[in-house]
Amino acid sequence: MARVKKTAKKSARKMKRMGHKELFARARKSLVGGVNSPVRAFKSVGGSPLFVQSGSGPYLLAADGRPYVDYCLSWGPLMFGHARKEIVSAAKAALERGTTFGAATIAEVDLAERIKEAFPSIELLRMTSSGTEADMCAVRVARAFTKRDLIIKFAGCYHGHVDSLLVAAGSGATALGAPDSAGVPKAFAATTIVLAFNDLPAVEGAFKKHKGRIAAVIVEPIPANMGVVFPAEGYLQGLRKITTREKALLIFDEVITGFRVCYGGVQTLCGIKPDLTVLGKIVGGGLPMGVYGGRRDVMSLVAPEGPVYQAGTLSGNPVAVAAGTAMLDLLRRRKPYARMEWLKNYLCEGLRLCANAAGVSLRIQSIGSMFTPFFVDGEVTDYASALKSDKKRYGRFFHEMLKLGVYLPPAQWEAAFVSAAHTERDLDLTIAAANAAFRKI
Ligand SMILES: *Cc1c(COP(=O)(O)O)cnc(C)c1O
Repeated sequence: MARVKKTAKKSARKMKRMGHKELFARARKSLVGGVNSPVRAFKSVGGSPLFVQSGSGPYLLAADGRPYVDYCLSWGPLMFGHARKEIVSAAKAALERGTTFGAATIAEVDLAERIKEAFPSIELLRMTSSGTEADMCAVRVARAFTKRDLIIKFAGCYHGHVDSLLVAAGSGATALGAPDSAGVPKAFAATTIVLAFNDLPAVEGAFKKHKGRIAAVIVEPIPANMGVVFPAEGYLQGLRKITTREKALLIFDEVITGFRVCYGGVQTLCGIKPDLTVLGKIVGGGLPMGVYGGRRDVMSLVAPEGPVYQAGTLSGNPVAVAAGTAMLDLLRRRKPYARMEWLKNYLCEGLRLCANAAGVSLRIQSIGSMFTPFFVDGEVTDYASALKSDKKRYGRFFHEMLKLGVYLPPAQWEAAFVSAAHTERDLDLTIAAANAAFRKI
């Protein structure tokens, strides 16, 4: 923190104390909404977004020179915090060898072998430049393999901004979806059946109603994009059983959970073999990368082996591959999972005690190093119960914490993350900040 503070002072002088408000006004003149991804704009919590100039370990340094303890961590990729030296050196070395070749490299094969070792369900895989792209391709290959068009997804689960997957709740549970984003043709959205998470009978019902027409069920096995929500006992096993019986594919979107809940993802934790798996975030070590892979007979349909076309100029980019490989090697060597979980438990216990003392209804749901503080009374088991959370209160909490130097995800229905770089001292500061914040909201 001392080093960060020193750099902070220097940069504060340099920036002449330009405020985030001014920066945001300038950004909005040339970038849509001032940002390159919507949630960064703080719409959900209000106020001007944070502009970041650098990161180091668990800390962010804002453009105005203020340091923050970071629990957003770029939405999940940074298991060891910002600018971890092994990852930076690997990426630097790759940069100096050339940034892109548009040709095969052995480094991609090395990374692919590591991914297969971590995920026994993955026999063949393809690298892409984002999680969205990997999700899109997983759905495409599932449709090609089954020669069916319909996809089941669950309300509140996010699978990137793929046209046909940008359908959330709204419409009745088993009704065919209506588009969640403008610009998505109704015909695309109509290929997606949106069901409530944790409702196995609804899945049975959909397969009965659309017999022989459902290509795949896509699911975040432990959803993190409506906040952290748990599958009920037997739910994932049920999805596996039904999809196998109906000859549909089961796609686990482990873009967040993949190397987060353990090395090998939720499927390793619960011993379920999906047909296809989608990875992202951590697997690129903080650089743009997505992966989809799974059964050899399914993945063999992808070009050049098969008729499903998918390509990418920067797919398997050498710098991202180097960073991703360094990340996976660190995870294997350092085994930070137990410590990260301990840190998360320490933090969440502190937050609970402070919320209780302030008389604030708070329900924290967490696994491993990820957690969501829901401002709600009951348990959150699906999108409908997640939506009961008090978004305005979260917004006030978020801003009180920000004032005190803590950066949480700028939206209620997200997962917050602890990294292996966080220290007990950081957590103590955070708990003290929360103690003050809960009393004010
Ligand atoms: C982030 C995320 C994606 C999309 O990945 P991008 O790299 O942002 O395109 C897909 N699925 C899940 C579960 C995610 O959390």
